[in-house]
Amino acid sequence: MTTDVRSTTAGGEVSAREARHVVQTYKRAPIVLTSGRGSYVYDVDGREYLDLISGVGVASLGHANPGLAAIVADQASTLLHCSNLFFHPLQGELAERLAALSGLERTFFCNSGTEAMEACLKFARRYWYADGAPQRSGIVALRGAFHGRTFGSLSITADPHYRDPFGPLLGPVTFVSPDDPAELAAAVTGDTAIVVVEAIQGEGGVRPLGVEFARAVQEACTRTGALLICDEIQCGLGRTGVPFYFPELGLQPQLVPVGKALGAGIPIGAALVSEAVAARVGYGEHGSTYGGNLLACRAGIYFLDQLTNGGVLEHVRRVGAHLGERLTELAGRHASIKEVRGVALMRGLDLDRPAAPVVDAARERGLLVNGTAKTVVRLLPPLTITAEEVDLAIDRLDDALTATAGATR
Ligand code: PLP
Repeated sequence: MTTDVRSTTAGGEVSAREARHVVQTYKRAPIVLTSGRGSYVYDVDGREYLDLISGVGVASLGHANPGLAAIVADQASTLLHCSNLFFHPLQGELAERLAALSGLERTFFCNSGTEAMEACLKFARRYWYADGAPQRSGIVALRGAFHGRTFGSLSITADPHYRDPFGPLLGPVTFVSPDDPAELAAAVTGDTAIVVVEAIQGEGGVRPLGVEFARAVQEACTRTGALLICDEIQCGLGRTGVPFYFPELGLQPQLVPVGKALGAGIPIGAALVSEAVAARVGYGEHGSTYGGNLLACRAGIYFLDQLTNGGVLEHVRRVGAHLGERLTELAGRHASIKEVRGVALMRGLDLDRPAAPVVDAARERGLLVNGTAKTVVRLLPPLTITAEEVDLAIDRLDDALTATAGATR
């Protein structure tokens, strides 16, 4: 199987045109994808790949899901967008469903994860302003965190590679180790406006927060009154076999940004907030032209319906447990796997070497996974992946690990 997109005529044209006209912010893998079905995607030359990254956790119902395709087509031929100048019937319906799942009564709709985080940051600032404490602006975030690329989200994202070229960023932000409850407890004071965590760090290498650390986070917020943001953009909405992961850790956030899986491929983001936070936000103080349009809300409603009434949540628990067992077996056969981390269908294999050669070797064997935090092979399959597909993925990963044994980059 070729690994160079330029070796095919169609692939070569695609990559050459991009090289001339697209801002070069993405170092893409050398394949051009043109279609998908279920857990598989197909490239321009007709090659099939089992997709265990699902557009970084977005294609939650698999590719070309017939039910989703039907409702998207129906909505496109009815009314796609009317702006937030007017009511439409679907925002309230989706917000009501999200409230029932999260316990957070109100939703602000936007178009991506980073926008959902921006909304949470603005609403948290607005909260302290309304309370007569606008100087209360300190933020405590975690090392290894990733919250997005816009200025607010970037300010609470730890990696200097993402941050340094774009300063000065929002501040003051104190980063603490997710392994050190005492450091967290000392950092959160009466000046802290916001504590922000991912219940499971995704880009940071698929690292669930420890129970003791989570307890320290909740205690610090309760002690000081600091608002807690739990970023569930990657780990939320069913990926771990429960609607949200924060309750599993005993966290009680006032703000929860979500995105990715919610639209199953249609761009949507949402800031889920408590009544107390929402009560302090007034007309015109935040907004979005596209946010919560009919198409995005229709997709979100369809996704949540499949998740809770269509059996997807139970399926994730079952197949997620199977994936966990198969990965543990795999680790038993490959000394290069130092640790298997994560929950259900959010998994990471921490290697004793760079992940990139394994990711490349897997792709050459028809399996898409991705590398994060340098040494971690990350798996975020569609929530609809079957046990048989998991077994096939493990066989291909097994081969890829064997083929790259000893490789370094
Ligand atoms: N927060 C987390 C935990 C994420 O994983 C991501 C994206 O990977 C984001 C925020 C940003 O989301 P988006 O890329 O949709 O802006």
